[in-house]
Amino acid sequence: MKASESPSFDHHEHVAKIDDPVSGLRAIIAVHNTKLGPAVGGCRMYPYATDAQALEDVLRLSRGMTYKSALAGLPMGGGKAVIIGDPAKDKSTALFHKMGEFIDSLNGVYVTAEDSGTCVDDLRLIAEQTNHVLGVNAEQEFGGDPSPLTAYGIFCGIRSAVNYKLHQDSLTGVTVAVQGAGAVGRYLIKLLIEAGADCVVCDINPQNLAKAEALGAKVVSVDEIMRVPADVFAPCAMGAILNDDTIPQLVATIVAGGANNQLARAEHGAQLQARGILYAPDFVINAGGIIEIYRQYKDLPMAECRSRIEGIGDTLHKIFERSDADGLTTAEVAEQIAEQRFKPSSGVSDAA
Ligand code: NAD
Repeated sequence: MKASESPSFDHHEHVAKIDDPVSGLRAIIAVHNTKLGPAVGGCRMYPYATDAQALEDVLRLSRGMTYKSALAGLPMGGGKAVIIGDPAKDKSTALFHKMGEFIDSLNGVYVTAEDSGTCVDDLRLIAEQTNHVLGVNAEQEFGGDPSPLTAYGIFCGIRSAVNYKLHQDSLTGVTVAVQGAGAVGRYLIKLLIEAGADCVVCDINPQNLAKAEALGAKVVSVDEIMRVPADVFAPCAMGAILNDDTIPQLVATIVAGGANNQLARAEHGAQLQARGILYAPDFVINAGGIIEIYRQYKDLPMAECRSRIEGIGDTLHKIFERSDADGLTTAEVAEQIAEQRFKPSSGVSDAA
């Protein structure tokens, strides 16, 4: 299938594919938009059933990166790479070296980083063939893993949403239901509990669940998490979790979590709004990781990175206010603000 025929094609500037029988590398790089700077986004490795699925994913994810970086005020565009393969059995030095060559052939228009299915060791192999890679410096505070800073951004976003919706400055006594106790979920639980919140958690992985319980979270089943009496529901596992089935079950009046693509379809933003549930758009609240990637890219001090991440709370506050004023969903408002930044001709004023 040609990229432009995919339903997820959205004026992407460049889409490149490689099928190299020698190394076994099959991969696609999508550059969505470079108006604000080079297209930065992770390199995912996943055993896609078909090439069309891989294409769909890389087009959707690269577009999302454009919006995320624009909303975070970063001078970077949106891109993504996907390697078609099983991270458990298809990794090899030759494969990642070839991926490095593939990235290098784009001359810096696309800059890669870690993503699901790839790790710092894989990126180091890629970096042997190209300079256009971030997150390979072991001296970084978290060794290249952006999850702690993603969690910090979500924490700042939850504080902002609680302040806006519940008129409360402190998180003391606020209950947060966290779906998924992986890298992001666990750091988030730690920050929330330290701030005086009560956490309820679910996960399908018993080891991750035990670690979250040790931090002080109360465990519930996967089926219960959206129905527990909580103030905030924080999805930190998978996408499309806000849908026709789940929205009517939600007890929380705030949804603010790290998972990408939480709304199954755009109209689910309106369904949340109709139920009086305040939704912090995922691509705004989970930008801490890309802000950390930007810090590495520009070699900025960590203090500046943290202060930019804390700005996620202010950005959300402005989105909530404009959503209430204009009657648009919070996701629609956030998209408008991003588009005004990377498509100045859109005619929307930017106050965030
Ligand atoms: P992770 O793989 O470390 O953790 C995900 C956790 O969710 C795992 O413990 C898994 O067992 C659990 N899970 C899977 N299905 C579940 C289900 N049905 N119910 C409950 N738990 C379930 O991933 P992560 O790095 O923590 O990322 C979490 C989410 O945040 C993902 O959607 C990711 O795309 C998004 N995100 C992550 C970052 C980052 O910096 N890591 C940045 C932006 C967005």
